[in-house]
Amino acid sequence: MTVGKYDLIVVGLGAMGAAALYQASKRGASVLGIDRYAPPHTLGSSHGDTRITRNAIGEGEIYMPFIRRSNEIWRELEAKTGRRLFHKSGGLIIAPATGGAGFHVRGDFVELSASLAEKYGIAYEILDADEIKRRSPLLQPRATDRAYHEPGAGVLRPERCIEAQLELAREAGAAIHTNERVTGYEAGADGVTVSTAGESYRAEKVILAAGAWIGDLLPAAYRGGIRVCRQLIHWFEAEDRSAFDPAVFPFVIWIGDCLDEFWSVFPAPRDGMAGVKLVTEQYHSSSHPDAVSRVVTAEEAADMYHRLTRPRLAGLRDNQVQAEVCLYTLTADEHFLIDYHPASERVIVTSPCSGHGFKHSAAVGETLAQMALDGGAEFDISAFNLARLIDAQA
Ligand SMILES: Cc1cc2nc3c(=O)[nH]c(=O)nc-3n(C[C@H](O)[C@H](O)[C@H](O)COP(=O)(O)OP(=O)(O)OC[C@H]3O[C@@H](n4cnc5c(N)ncnc54)[C@H](O)[C@@H]3O)c2cc1C
Repeated sequence: MTVGKYDLIVVGLGAMGAAALYQASKRGASVLGIDRYAPPHTLGSSHGDTRITRNAIGEGEIYMPFIRRSNEIWRELEAKTGRRLFHKSGGLIIAPATGGAGFHVRGDFVELSASLAEKYGIAYEILDADEIKRRSPLLQPRATDRAYHEPGAGVLRPERCIEAQLELAREAGAAIHTNERVTGYEAGADGVTVSTAGESYRAEKVILAAGAWIGDLLPAAYRGGIRVCRQLIHWFEAEDRSAFDPAVFPFVIWIGDCLDEFWSVFPAPRDGMAGVKLVTEQYHSSSHPDAVSRVVTAEEAADMYHRLTRPRLAGLRDNQVQAEVCLYTLTADEHFLIDYHPASERVIVTSPCSGHGFKHSAAVGETLAQMALDGGAEFDISAFNLARLIDAQA
């Protein structure tokens, strides 16, 4: 049975889809959002209590309009919902003076961040190892480490951001279907049909924001250009949790000499999860998201604590209190995907992840709504084109 005709259907209501649904409904469009689970949930890429956000985006200048606009939208959402979505903690990006293994993009991430901060008038400092230790006594950098310090950076609360946008979208009239998986879509001259197990829905446009599952909804030729990598989030018991409060402890992105030495530690908001959050990154193995093991093993917890954390951070006990698996959806150049479908401009495809998408998601949602409702984006999205997925396989 075919149901209704909407201006827009949004498939996937995680970070990007919830933001797109909110933005389109705010503009008065009739919208339907569909998710295979019930967001915010722990099976995609947007869970785990906190996400780092910075103002100088070392991943590239192309992201600067997105972060600036996202920051405005987070503030707007806080005012509208009364929910706290952002904690200003400051942030440190620590790397060897050589630049180390890089982070998300090639090059010295400390330098890349500093040069954008300089250009955009963002307050920052470069600290040597002694100064890092003096300001954050729990940290034990090597003598050759130095840090980019951005006092205005902090952490977002991803589940709350998603909830807030879905709630406001619903209030503005959006229909939201959860626990309903989209199985296909067909675009024609007079609209798009989106199919789920029991229903099909009609709309003028569709946004595919399926995160790690985006490959399932793309033509086969594009799928090989995307890798889904299992990532781990650990929470370890603190000797004194107040020492990790955002008011006194910054997030730390710690870049090593090789990719396997990368890790980060997050400030722990008082009303957040128990323990202190630590994450690593791995790019060695990838799989379909439905095949990812969701269990964090004792060996993985020991590696996080003994190899990565203990030599460089004091104040945590060898007691993992919680762990979660999260998914990176990676392109070869680690930049985003935001484009029209090659077969029809009625279909917009997005998966802005590669491990750094959340901070930009509010503005990405606005961009997706513009693409659907206005026929184009205000910000430059040319670097996020789909054709790269084919080039990367050549
Ligand atoms: C461990 C980890 C740490 C990270 N840290 C940071 C950070 O500090 N800062 C930062 O900016 N970014 C960070 N990121 C990246 C950021 O979280 C992601 O870029 C972002 O959350 C991706 O959002 P998304 O909407 O693309 O995916 P998701 O939020 O996963 O949403 C996709 C949605 O699509 C739904 N879906 C899939 N298939 C279908 C279907 N067929 N039908 C219906 N629904 C479907 C899913 O159920 C899901 O809800 C991190 C990611 C991870 C994994």
